Amino acid sequence: MPNAYYRTKDEQQVNEKSESSESASHKNFIEVEIEKDMATKTELIGKQVATRFPPEPNGYLHIGHAKSICLNFGLAKTYGGTCNLRFDDTNPTKESEEYVNSIKTDVQWLGFQWDKLLYASDYFGQLYDWSVQLIREGHAFVCDLNAEQMREYRGTLTEPGKNSPYRDRSVEENLDLFTRMKQGEFPDGARTLRAKIDMSSPNLNLRDPVMVRIMHAHHHRTGDQWCIYPMYDWAHGQSDSIEGITHSICTLEFENHRPLYDWFCKTLKIHHPRQMEFARMNLSYTVMSKRKLLQLVTEKHVSGWDDPRMPTISGLRRRGYTPESLRLFCEKIGVARFSSLIDVIVLENSIREHLNPIAPRYMAVLDPIKIVLTNYPQGKEELLEAVNNPEDPNGGSRQIPFSRELFIERDDFMETPPSKFFRLKPGGEVRLRYGYIIKCNEVVKDSDGNITHLNCTYDEQTKSGSPTAIDRKVKGTIHWVNARQASHVEVRLYDRLFLSETPEDAPEGKTFLDNINPDSVRTVTAMVEHELAKQEPGARVQFERNGYFCVDVKDSHPGAPIFNRIVTLKDTWAKIANKA
Ligand code: ATP
Ligand code: MG
Repeated sequence: MPNAYYRTKDEQQVNEKSESSESASHKNFIEVEIEKDMATKTELIGKQVATRFPPEPNGYLHIGHAKSICLNFGLAKTYGGTCNLRFDDTNPTKESEEYVNSIKTDVQWLGFQWDKLLYASDYFGQLYDWSVQLIREGHAFVCDLNAEQMREYRGTLTEPGKNSPYRDRSVEENLDLFTRMKQGEFPDGARTLRAKIDMSSPNLNLRDPVMVRIMHAHHHRTGDQWCIYPMYDWAHGQSDSIEGITHSICTLEFENHRPLYDWFCKTLKIHHPRQMEFARMNLSYTVMSKRKLLQLVTEKHVSGWDDPRMPTISGLRRRGYTPESLRLFCEKIGVARFSSLIDVIVLENSIREHLNPIAPRYMAVLDPIKIVLTNYPQGKEELLEAVNNPEDPNGGSRQIPFSRELFIERDDFMETPPSKFFRLKPGGEVRLRYGYIIKCNEVVKDSDGNITHLNCTYDEQTKSGSPTAIDRKVKGTIHWVNARQASHVEVRLYDRLFLSETPEDAPEGKTFLDNINPDSVRTVTAMVEHELAKQEPGARVQFERNGYFCVDVKDSHPGAPIFNRIVTLKDTWAKIANKA
């Protein structure tokens, strides 16, 4: 099923192949490997599957992280194992408590509970001891090359590197210098601790990689205790090992770090988790790197990490996405072995799919134009029966007021329509939802030629649901609200934040910021059924014929809800593309 969503032909074929063999057993390739490992590897027999989700607390989580969360926590659930939430907090200048807290909130909101809450920074002491062990065994050395020199010595993909002139320092000298690095004797960047592996390895990650660097920076958890910090590669696998992780699942860009992951565990002779890679999820019409999302926030292109246009979990939550819809989305796209661009329509369809059977329907007019039913008695008002949700047999119904003056949607009327326009036009007929068939007799305008209202007549014989109604078919049915009881509410019509499918592919001299959609939000005052004005923050409803909306949790006030458009009912962009 997921193969339909992949973009390029090549990717599609590859995915079809892997998909068809997987769907036969309903298992993804990671599950297949885990089952094999647990059944055949002596050190794993009788053990539980142990996974972890390891975010760096340097930003808010995005929809790509949701994929990783669903995968890691999902595996633990499938196999009755455990999944830890571990903060990979080894980069103090970019990390903060605010990010830690937002990540915890997001994981739980998605519906997952970690077994243990852990921090790589809790292992700094152990990592220090292991560094000393590697120095003693001749597997690590203190290097005085600066960053630029190190790059020169490193070589390239086609040329081998050169040994550092400091590579053959004695164990004693290394121990002395490393201790003094820890004691804060040297400035940032003056020295590093490097693994002694192989400067001619075809894998650049094995060319004596830096393990520890000097950084006089305050850490949000360890304070000023440390002025040396482990590099990602040195901290990550060792943290996995300490926690007894059996399968360390990460994204594809770490595939060529795996030999280093393995080298550290083997050389230290510690528990050795198996690293497995899957494809990072990319979504069309958005950016997903935390660095770019941070830039959108700090440069105020959006109102914050939880701006409803952001692909962050907090943004999607505020927009009105449900945890169920995000989990459904992650399930639909499957676990790919090769990079793919997922069409954002798949995400939008997931929330439609979840809300269709459960969201109550209401009528709301976003851009009102008034109609007057000239043959409807002045002062009369009747109540019409409206179904709350035709998809929900237990959804019940409500009564809505109907009288002489109503509002309909401006674009449900056209003065000079094309031939296939089946809504309201001069001399034409249309059915009002739950009500009557009406006919437009006169377009009334002010002196500037703007329409002030439409004079219409209603056909009393055509009341919806009435046993005595004349069954007269008209092609269009439109929504409306009763002028007298309508409430005014603010509605924020969100659209995609970027105009381009792949915003990062900006032309020469431009950046992803140049691809921002200038119309990604439009605010209107809508006329809505009175019931809508009473909705609580977080409530999700369908505006009939319009879309799904959610009451904004931040900006709404009691009695004055603000509605965020989660998604239109149909994919309007497809229509635009088809017309072009
Ligand atoms: P970014 O590049 O967006 O900053 P990251 O990989 O640096 O993301 P981490 O905090 O290190 O962010 O990610 C935590 C986990 O989430 C990692 O295991 C990472 O592989 C996974 N992850 C991050 N982005 C995606 C994505 N787009 N699709 C799937 N998994 C992802
Ligand atoms: Mg990262």
